[in-house]
Amino acid sequence: MIMRPRKALIIGAGIAGPVTAILLKRAGFEAAIYEGWSYSTGIGGGLQIAPNGMRVLAEIGLADELIRGGSVCESIDLYSQSGSRLGSVNRNMVVRFGYPSVSMRRAMLTEALVDQAWSSCVEVHFEKRLARIEDRPDQPIVAHFTDGSSAEGDVLIGADGVHSAVRRHVLPDGPTPCDTGLIGFGGFVPRAILEASGARSSLAMTFGQSGFFGYGFCGPEAADGAMCWSTQPARGIDAETFRAKDQATLKQHLRRFHAGWHDPIPQLIDATERIIVTATLDVATLPTWSRGRTLLIGDAAHATSPHAGQGASIALEDAYRLVRALQNEPEISIAFQNFESERRPRAERLVALARHNGGRKREFSRAGAWIRDQMIRVMLPLNARSQDWIYGYDARAVTPRSGMSSPRFRQAA
Ligand SMILES: Cc1cc2nc3c(=O)[nH]c(=O)nc-3n(C[C@H](O)[C@H](O)[C@H](O)COP(=O)(O)OP(=O)(O)OC[C@H]3O[C@@H](n4cnc5c(N)ncnc54)[C@H](O)[C@@H]3O)c2cc1C
Repeated sequence: MIMRPRKALIIGAGIAGPVTAILLKRAGFEAAIYEGWSYSTGIGGGLQIAPNGMRVLAEIGLADELIRGGSVCESIDLYSQSGSRLGSVNRNMVVRFGYPSVSMRRAMLTEALVDQAWSSCVEVHFEKRLARIEDRPDQPIVAHFTDGSSAEGDVLIGADGVHSAVRRHVLPDGPTPCDTGLIGFGGFVPRAILEASGARSSLAMTFGQSGFFGYGFCGPEAADGAMCWSTQPARGIDAETFRAKDQATLKQHLRRFHAGWHDPIPQLIDATERIIVTATLDVATLPTWSRGRTLLIGDAAHATSPHAGQGASIALEDAYRLVRALQNEPEISIAFQNFESERRPRAERLVALARHNGGRKREFSRAGAWIRDQMIRVMLPLNARSQDWIYGYDARAVTPRSGMSSPRFRQAA
């Protein structure tokens, strides 16, 4: 029996890693983070943190700062390719759930998390790429890094994302990331381009006959406080091939792909400074999230494609619930099992939802696209509350047996 750990080795300084470390430290554990890349600012595109994720960020004292540095999203407005409005979702999030959905730069979020980890006296080591894990009875668990160095602890938490090296230790023959057949192109644009189009504090999402385009504000900066992204069927060319192309070629590709789409989509494409290309991956259900003293969390455990806008928020929830599990149960393997059985149903439901949503962004016939648009128009008002289980989840108020938020916290007063 392996009892209450003192020190956790956390692999990955993305989203789940720093938050787990901060909360562990606050709960009286030691935590050290090991990140494969060097410390750098400005990496990545835009993303949105939903109320369920903002609740965890509030818990570590970052919600106000991120609301100021990002942009509160008042609603998500859906359009057809020609610009006909199909409806709106995610209105009144603060009234309904106590926190807003906030669009922001990924770089701002990860910088704030690493700063907060440092302020909480967490060791954060950069350029430490995990190579392998050694877990022998009666010895500390050891993380070996590609530079030949190593670190010892009592448990190891794999918060190392979709391509997780820790996952390969937990499940040497387990599933690898699956390409869902869609490619993402994203970037930042000046706020003035969106302001000129009359855009409000909402995200706009346009469903085309083939593919999808989204845009909205993501911060107060004039030069690049708006973001946009295109999602397209791969059509035989993978993300890696696109990434090798220069910016002018990528822009030309986007112009052609979205030719004839409604304003301000052409203007946004023209104004995008640096286009980032991403494959759209997820990972099939894992048979287990832990092995011995090693546990997977966030994308390492349940990588989701981005079409439900929830991967980061459930990574934040994981961090909070894991620390609770370790506080509540001294025996590590039981704490890990409790964590997994509580988190798995919710995480897998969201991965499946994201896959389903991705299906709306594929190729349609002209008639098929029209029918899809009419379905969206009709179904949106009927399903107005269908996402409450996602946003109303309060990691602080979960009853461990059911994995559900207590009603008291599900909706803010
Ligand atoms: C284009 C795109 C848009 C998205 N938009 C949204 C959105 O709007 N809202 C949302 O909630 N989610 C969104 N997501 C999903 C979200 O980004 C992920 O679910 C989230 O980042 C998962 O957090 P994590 O901490 O588990 O992993 P990550 O954030 O991926 O962090 C993993 C960290 O581990 C490090 N690492 C990897 N391997 C090693 C190693 N061997 N050794 C050491 N360190 C290592 C990585 O460098 C990285 O820093 C989007 C994803 C994509 C691709």
